Amino acid sequence: MKTVYTFGGGATHDDARARDKTVTGGKGANLAEMAGIGLPVPPGFTITAEECVRYLRDGGDFSPELREAVTEALVHVERTAGKTFGEASDPLLVSVRSGARVSMPGMMDTVLNLGLNDETVAGLAATSGDERFAWDSYRRFIQMYSDVVLGLDHGLFEEALEIVKEDNGYFNDTELTAENLQALVAQYKQIVADELGRDFPQDVHEQLWGAIRAVFDSWDSDRAKVYRRLNDIPADWGTAVNVQAMVFGNMGETSATGVAFTRDPATGEKAYYGEWLVNAQGEDVVAGIRTPQYLTRAARERAGASAPSMEEAMPEAYAELAAVFDLLEKHYKDMQDIEFTVERGKLWMLQTRTGKRTAKAALKMAVDMADEGLIDETTAILRVDPMALDQLLHPTLDPDAPRDVLGKGLPASPGAASGKIVLDADTAESWSGRGDKVVLVRVETSPEDIHGMHAAQGILTARGGMTSHAAVVARGMGRPCVSGASGVSIDIKARTLKIGAREFAEGDVITLDGATGEIMAGEVPTIQPELAGDFGTLMEWADKYRRMKVRTNAETPADCRMARRFGAEGIGLARTEHMFFDGARIGAVRQMILADDEAGRRKALERLLPEQRSDFVEIFTTMAGLPCTIRLLDPPLHEFLPHSDEEFEEVADAAGIGVDHLKRRAAELHEFNPMLGHRGCRLGITYPEIYEMQARAIFEAACEVTLRQAQGARGGDEESGSARPEPVEGLGAVVPEVMIPLVGTRKELALLKQVVDETARTVFEEKGVTLDYLVGTMIELPRAALMAGAIAEEAMFFSFGTNDLTQTTLGVSRDDSANFLAVYVDKGIYARDPFVSLDIEGVGQLVEIAAERGRATRPELKLGICGEHGGDPASIAFCEKVGLDYVSASPYRVPIARLAAAQAALRG
Ligand code: PEP
Ligand code: MG
Repeated sequence: MKTVYTFGGGATHDDARARDKTVTGGKGANLAEMAGIGLPVPPGFTITAEECVRYLRDGGDFSPELREAVTEALVHVERTAGKTFGEASDPLLVSVRSGARVSMPGMMDTVLNLGLNDETVAGLAATSGDERFAWDSYRRFIQMYSDVVLGLDHGLFEEALEIVKEDNGYFNDTELTAENLQALVAQYKQIVADELGRDFPQDVHEQLWGAIRAVFDSWDSDRAKVYRRLNDIPADWGTAVNVQAMVFGNMGETSATGVAFTRDPATGEKAYYGEWLVNAQGEDVVAGIRTPQYLTRAARERAGASAPSMEEAMPEAYAELAAVFDLLEKHYKDMQDIEFTVERGKLWMLQTRTGKRTAKAALKMAVDMADEGLIDETTAILRVDPMALDQLLHPTLDPDAPRDVLGKGLPASPGAASGKIVLDADTAESWSGRGDKVVLVRVETSPEDIHGMHAAQGILTARGGMTSHAAVVARGMGRPCVSGASGVSIDIKARTLKIGAREFAEGDVITLDGATGEIMAGEVPTIQPELAGDFGTLMEWADKYRRMKVRTNAETPADCRMARRFGAEGIGLARTEHMFFDGARIGAVRQMILADDEAGRRKALERLLPEQRSDFVEIFTTMAGLPCTIRLLDPPLHEFLPHSDEEFEEVADAAGIGVDHLKRRAAELHEFNPMLGHRGCRLGITYPEIYEMQARAIFEAACEVTLRQAQGARGGDEESGSARPEPVEGLGAVVPEVMIPLVGTRKELALLKQVVDETARTVFEEKGVTLDYLVGTMIELPRAALMAGAIAEEAMFFSFGTNDLTQTTLGVSRDDSANFLAVYVDKGIYARDPFVSLDIEGVGQLVEIAAERGRATRPELKLGICGEHGGDPASIAFCEKVGLDYVSASPYRVPIARLAAAQAALRG
């Protein structure tokens, strides 16, 4: 196996290993690729990453084959460059760079100008005709080499440089004369001798092998190890080493250097984009010492800049560069990020790689490139990161606007929100009612805050994780939310709060960035999302290729409409308890919960029935025949209990019982562990009349909407007549899917299914209508997953409630996990927050088992997921593998799920 691959000049580039990133690293493979398609690449060679692995394994010894291969490769570089390494009169100088399979911070930096010593520096001065340039190159080389290869503190050299500048009254490095620099070189060499007890290496071969050794060793540096661990990069990849002839962009006014993108990485516009500097080295462009100039005339004019663009100042080199851009894009079929140098009018390509881009640019480029025929539709679909769409669906903060960041919490629901601070939900509602934009700030939110959350532009909580009440509700509503911001402390009496060290009063304006978790003072300007155009096109393409359906988790008409705009194909989860949070209803709900007996509960339920029915009528109407899964009540009871004296009084008044009695009852209902308490179907088992009322509301609404549709189709004919109305053309029939939560045993489901079936029968008789409907269950307990075979005898569908399934499988509370899960993720115990991205190896097994056992019992069993994971691309890919029929996500995540489902189907 070859240990070294040459590129440039007369090298042959047909060996596939030379262009294989796993062999020659990202940088090396791209250099070979560019040279192979005939681009002007300074000649050089790449030592394989395999050699690095061997060197480290063998305890730091170079193999004889490697020594020989490097010697030969060097001859190739010398011949091509027409210069000799170490020759005094016209020396070859090289750069040495590391280059792993993926770009990896923590690895050895670049060493430039290697090959300079006390003799060759004179040769360089003579051939370049520039004494200052030669000495500056030498002093830069000593500084870099001493730092990255010899391991000396670069501060020592910086200090020496500063002293020379001070002594001479200089401000910039550029003011140093050739004599100053020569003196500085002598000082630098002295520093090395003092620090190391030996001289700076004058032998150029010793310099080269020293640099190669440093690159190899850097693979096992502490920094690199940490980075590898955090990014799941195996230790046995190793790094390649790239040695390449130097070209100089700082050889006078006909030389230049620059960085460029083949398209605009911020907007995606098909226009070359970049910066360059005349008479400069690469590091000058990035270091910000001189202001770089625009590459194109159009960009310069747009910016109103006066310094000439490269297009104007060096038309020939620019034309050549533009041709290279086109060639590279055609070759790589993607936008490229390029480094180039012009040495005395001659263009050289130093690097190309696929360029990073914003979400907006990724979308535009994918659609444009498919339209141009550069890539096909499926490649375009695979090229956009579904999560990046998040940035596009919400108003986002203007990236150019200044930010006064006060603190940070969890990025619980994306989007940007600015508004006046309000500290409770009622204030949020009343201020927003009078036209103010408000941000609701709470320690944590509870169901009673829902109207305030709706009224607010955004929500900030001091406590709570990514699946806390605030986070789930905010995502569902599409409200930006920052949760678990521990730096926020609220003084509710004084109506003030502290964010970090700064104090604010209710009414002061703050801004939240739900995508990063940042909290900012004042208003930061935003930009609005665009749903048509490129976004619409890519979504259309994605829909052609996906197998799974995409539904939404929604219960309000506004959310349903929003989800349909985003392409939802039904409701996967309508949480009926969210419909009870409404200010007017919560009283009846509390009365129901706190009632002493069935009669008391029924009285309260009677008040709730018409409200529920009208909710369902709205949902069925809005969803126009698309499937709707409605989940029966699943409230952790504590969320509904009254807290304040006023609230107790209200409920006591309405129910006609004493406050003390009510308080005693509330105390009886107090639970130590509400999440594992009297919730979900346990409520239906103990108080069947609750589920009975809900089933009645569902079926009455379904009948009403169906009859209305039928009448509409017949032109307002009042007679209904037919027992099973014909579906109306253009509208699917209303087929309610009634879902029972938190089931663990077959018997629970059987009992509750009986309640639903009996209620359906009664309602159908009353209305003279019969409708199809399904009864199914959520799988959210390990026992339910294991017993899925038996449960499927009763269930016509399963919906995986992976929020609770994660909570109960991991034994980690959804509401309390924020305090420690981040540390778990930092330490790599879980790769990602398991409440955000499904723990596939653990919880995933239960999903697979349940799907398999359920389908064995009932092959036509419909399977879906409605936990938060239904909007997470990695979890969606898993759902595709398991063969689920649909995923359900909060409205704003619907497009993400559509794209992720298409990608999962395409990847197979
Ligand atoms: C779940 O547990 O995954 C689920 C969707 O139900 P909820 O979040 O309402 O408990
Ligand atoms: Mg649940």
